Amino acid sequence: PGPFLSVRDLSVQFGTEDGVVHAVDRLSYDLEKGTTLGIVGESGSGKSVSTLTILGLHDPAVTTIGGEIWLEDRQLVGAPRATLEKLRGDRIAMIFQDPLTSLSPYHTVGRQISETYRKHKGASKREARDRAIEMLRRVGIPHAQTRVDDYPHQFSGGMRQRVMIAMALVCDPDLLIADEPTTALDVTVQAQILDLLKDLQQQFGTSIILITHDLGVVARTAHDVLVMYAGRAIEQGSVREVLREPRHPYTWGLLGSMPRLNSNVDLPLLPVRGTPPSLLNPPSGCPFHPRCDYRDLVPGDMCATDRPELSPAGGHRDACYLTLAQKREIFDGQIKER
Ligand code: SF4
Ligand code: MG
Repeated sequence: PGPFLSVRDLSVQFGTEDGVVHAVDRLSYDLEKGTTLGIVGESGSGKSVSTLTILGLHDPAVTTIGGEIWLEDRQLVGAPRATLEKLRGDRIAMIFQDPLTSLSPYHTVGRQISETYRKHKGASKREARDRAIEMLRRVGIPHAQTRVDDYPHQFSGGMRQRVMIAMALVCDPDLLIADEPTTALDVTVQAQILDLLKDLQQQFGTSIILITHDLGVVARTAHDVLVMYAGRAIEQGSVREVLREPRHPYTWGLLGSMPRLNSNVDLPLLPVRGTPPSLLNPPSGCPFHPRCDYRDLVPGDMCATDRPELSPAGGHRDACYLTLAQKREIFDGQIKER
């Protein structure tokens, strides 16, 4: 059997008043059962769009999708809306940064969790309520028995995110897509929620796609990582490989904002200079070249003219013309400097 989720050459374009946006450009990755893939990038890198497509949550009137998305033996690109709708909530669930966008303010959390369960599992009211209480307990909400009758606004931000997770997992989905699930929370609560997700993953065997701009979140939670820039994968591999020896200059920039693995010292923030590129009119050559400090090391003006492809399949891969020796030397130098 192949991987649980397999994305091949996924491209997503949509029409706007200003022209065609190339949101995702030939993206490929695999997700193994029960593991977490972190998709990292700045806003506008295509990291959210690439996963909304899995759920069919795009406007078909303006969107063109190319490539393949296999969920086990099922092809999701071009699948009927009804099929995707049935998969959502049952086999695939999603949590967002702000639970208030997904939770209704007018109903108790118990009612919302149990309705999801009844809709997909055909359970009785009684069973569904018991299941809601059990889920609230499993996500660590104290006094679940009584809190089940509270409304979303009666919970703190962190507790509300737990409610959201309870609702997402109530049908025991195979795949959970978490889009910036902890971005709005303070650091301590953030760590608690990430640990909870890891814990639940072990209990339920859920596969997770975690979308974030923060490599620190990936380091804490994910098994594999995919770094996106301008709609493309520019580096991917296991979290261990990519964080120990990142190879792409953009990944070095992202790393500047997180503490080094095996170290308790916070490194100074080294933001990537410049702004993310327009996806209406992506840069020629390497999409990162207008912001890259190392393009002079590459012969000719290749960085500006020719698109670097990801190195061949398997293991740790990146899309940059520097030699592996140059990448190692530059990154080691950066670590010493700090
Ligand atoms: Fe920089 Fe060139 Fe590598 Fe792109 S290919 S990241 S511009 S050195
Ligand atoms: Mg987003």
